[in-house]
Amino acid sequence: MLGGMRLGEARDLLGEVFGHADFRFGQREAVEAACTGRDALILLPTGSGKSLCYQLPALLAQRRSLGTCVVISPLIALMRDQVAALEARGLRAAALNSHQEAASQRETLAALRAGELALLYVSPERAAQSGFRRVLQSCRVTLLAVDEAHCVSQWGHDFRPDYLRIHELRDLFDAPCLALTATATPQVMEEIAKLLALRDPQVVTGEFNRPNLSFAVRQPGQQGQRLAALEEELVAAKLGRRGKGGRGIVYCSTRKTAEAVSKSLRARGFAITHYHAGRTQLARERAQKAFESGRTPLLAATNAFGMGIDLPDIRLIVHFQAPGSLEAYYQEAGRAGRDGAPARCVLFFGAGDLNTQRRLASASAGSAKLRAHRERSLEGVARYAQAIRCRQQMLCAHFSGGKEHPTCGGCDVCVDAEGVEASQACETERSADIQRLSDAARDLIVDAVERLRKPVGRGNLARALRGSRAKSLSRGGLMTLPEYGKLADYDEASVVAAVDALLAEGRLERRGRKYPTVWIPGKAIRTKTTPAAEAGEAPRTRSRARSRGGALARALDNYRRRTARHLKWKTYMVFQKRVILAIDREEPASHDALARIPGLGPAKIERFGDDILQLVREHGGRS
Ligand code: ADP
Ligand code: ZN
Repeated sequence: MLGGMRLGEARDLLGEVFGHADFRFGQREAVEAACTGRDALILLPTGSGKSLCYQLPALLAQRRSLGTCVVISPLIALMRDQVAALEARGLRAAALNSHQEAASQRETLAALRAGELALLYVSPERAAQSGFRRVLQSCRVTLLAVDEAHCVSQWGHDFRPDYLRIHELRDLFDAPCLALTATATPQVMEEIAKLLALRDPQVVTGEFNRPNLSFAVRQPGQQGQRLAALEEELVAAKLGRRGKGGRGIVYCSTRKTAEAVSKSLRARGFAITHYHAGRTQLARERAQKAFESGRTPLLAATNAFGMGIDLPDIRLIVHFQAPGSLEAYYQEAGRAGRDGAPARCVLFFGAGDLNTQRRLASASAGSAKLRAHRERSLEGVARYAQAIRCRQQMLCAHFSGGKEHPTCGGCDVCVDAEGVEASQACETERSADIQRLSDAARDLIVDAVERLRKPVGRGNLARALRGSRAKSLSRGGLMTLPEYGKLADYDEASVVAAVDALLAEGRLERRGRKYPTVWIPGKAIRTKTTPAAEAGEAPRTRSRARSRGGALARALDNYRRRTARHLKWKTYMVFQKRVILAIDREEPASHDALARIPGLGPAKIERFGDDILQLVREHGGRS
């Protein structure tokens, strides 16, 4: 044990050997734990300096001839890089893996026995071998570090069965265990502690906020539209054409898609290559080299690429298809902007992506419990993609379990929100700053027109989608559209501008001469009035009676503002105005009834549902 080490000594070594002025967040606690013989569980984002947490104690131990730090690490390439970096700093380090020749393995083991190694990196598979365990028993181990510790978790996204046997090592020597990961929910953290048999571990949880990353979600539709959206992103980020600085990764769920994306972009003049586990070792190494050297600044890859990659200047990470969990997403997207300069992370999302993930997962079947867990992970991804809450805030909350985080101001949701506020602030100058609608909002416009029986005027369409109660909307079923009021967060001019853009793109077409209207290209117009058309009148009459917004609407609005202030959210993030209107109209009396209010998802119902029901009881008209 390293007991008795003073922090000053560790800090001196930090500067002397590693060249850092001071500890970063979490490092001091981790080093202290290791030096006092206490187990520790360390959750710090990628790039925050986790390796130092065990390398520095290992160095201290070497200086005092106390023994070796054994590091369990899942990837050979990762070990190789670490060993090279440590040797460059004058530390004796080595890795044991099956790719080495027998002679070099023997040499490493001899050095280990002689106590010459400060650090020894091994794979979990090697650590499970009885021969290796016998050697360990006969030498001095001062610290056991488990890197990428989330791999012990069946719920983790890259589960490695031999991680489950690491705890057995703890009987072979008396040394503290440091478990490190960049990606674990509170549930996984608990599991890590249990499965590694950590004893009263010091828990260090870092800040997951990445202020230089701006997150966004787009829903471009099928492959063709996704490619077009991807190209837009690359052009906007100035990436991939005659590369001058900056790289981008396009993550795909399947090998086939990674290849298709790479091929299609190459044909359009981008310098891109692809990487996946189905390629030969040589091809993979070549792709990685080309990407790292900057020769091809773009890479289309499956999740096989990236662990241990530490490139500072990745400016854009596009997920061409949604991954299977938010853990996987944040780990992959988090590889952007390591240098602290602005970078963008875009998730392309479509419902089909979830099925792709299900298909990939069922190839490796698993227990019913595991399948249920996978479904929950997928739901998490869908919730993230469809949320109207600050993306960064949502990701941080996911990883640090409910701690409140401020909004980032830079993600698509935050930027949209500011647009809304700005447009409300300067009603008169509206036309000056037209907002661009999200892809989902644009799709929604087309859906609404698709549902109508007759062409509709641009202005009326926009007003209906914004939830206006203007008299002119009472005809043609505009008020009964499921899309009614769904674009309340945009101003009218922006919605009209989006309709114009859809006309220009040919997704809508212009009809009529006297009163120009819009319609779906090629769709027949039904002229007969159907019963549904009459039904369209009904809600208007009912809602008009309450359109002033009675006590309930006011109470809900107050509640929403109070809550937003408390949570440091934007008001509309609590729930939108249309939700207030719908609650005011429907007066839901149960959680089930709340679930039928559009715009109130399960997460919001769980959080605010009881309060809302209480307000309905207190202020509703029916009570
Ligand atoms: P992680 O394993 O958490 O992804 P690394 O251990 O690879 O992160 O460290 C990421 C980078 O941070 C490395 O370049 C490392 O040199 C640097 N680093 C680590 N600790 C410090 C520190 N205390 N001060 C400054 N830089 C540091
Ligand atoms: Zn945000």
